[in-house]
Amino acid sequence: MEVISGKEIAAEIKSQIAADVEKYSKEYGRKPNLVVVIVGDDPGSVSYVTGKTKAANEVGIDNQTICLKENTTEEELLTLIRNLNDDKGVDGILIQLPLPKGIDEDKVILTLSADKDVDGFHPLNVAALWQKRPCLLPCTPKGIIELMKRKGIEMSGKRAVVIGRSNIVGLPVAKLLTDENATVTVCHSRTKNLAEICSQADILVPALGKPKFVKENMVKEGAVVIDVGVNRDPDTGKLCGDVDFEAVAPKTSFITKVPGGVGPMTIACLMQNTLECYLNNMKKK
Ligand code: NAP
Repeated sequence: MEVISGKEIAAEIKSQIAADVEKYSKEYGRKPNLVVVIVGDDPGSVSYVTGKTKAANEVGIDNQTICLKENTTEEELLTLIRNLNDDKGVDGILIQLPLPKGIDEDKVILTLSADKDVDGFHPLNVAALWQKRPCLLPCTPKGIIELMKRKGIEMSGKRAVVIGRSNIVGLPVAKLLTDENATVTVCHSRTKNLAEICSQADILVPALGKPKFVKENMVKEGAVVIDVGVNRDPDTGKLCGDVDFEAVAPKTSFITKVPGGVGPMTIACLMQNTLECYLNNMKKK
């Protein structure tokens, strides 16, 4: 059994990005520029944004965080996004979700320019993903596949089970696993015989958001388990994943831990997407 360190792999990716940023900044005369917009002061969102801007600073990506008040109107936010879309000096825009009540997230994502959509949430990017055309991929699913590739984990022909069908994680990771030629089953809250289905998986990707939900009986001997969940352990108050790590790990061939697994990969892929937006933006000129 090997515990995959997402933190170490993310560090490798970030150092490659830093080298690319340095090289292309010389060629194009400026660094990539990421703008992060946060509305309100939800502590979870503030901490995620801090992690993202810290990574941007590490790799040499210019970044600004625009903090808007909780009572910002939808129209004010949309006006800001349109201005950022038009600003040629801005390569990537990230709107930290969730947004306060009263602001329609779908409208916000639709307003964002698909070319600057570093999260890969715009319907044009989503459609391109499903049609296997070039696009900005959502960061967490991209990070999960990258993690397995870098560990040399074979996906082709394997039976993969994803628990969760959200637009952000479950569905896109299932699509990317399919593109890697895995045979994929997507489970959700209405799935019957969940434990039995999971226990047949060569690759299990729990992304449901329930602390320590995946137990030993749900995991096949020698399986690869990539834990996406980020939860608070109700007993200790500490961060934990969707997998009961201590019980499950001995049965696996590879497993990720929370924290230090998928989370850092998400941020590294956000930096990759920002670099991609920048390069596309520079090539347009
Ligand atoms: P979400 O939108 O709440 O989706 C959860 C999915 O899990 C839904 O499809 C739901 O089914 C399914 N589900 C819930 N309870 C279930 C159960 N008992 N059995 C089977 N399926 C169940 O969550 P999300 O945004 O995809 O995020 C999932 C988890 O990943 C969260 O813990 C989140 O914090 C974490 N996350 C981590 C990262 C990272 O970078 N590490 C990034 C994004 C998200 P229904 O569709 O039937 O409701």
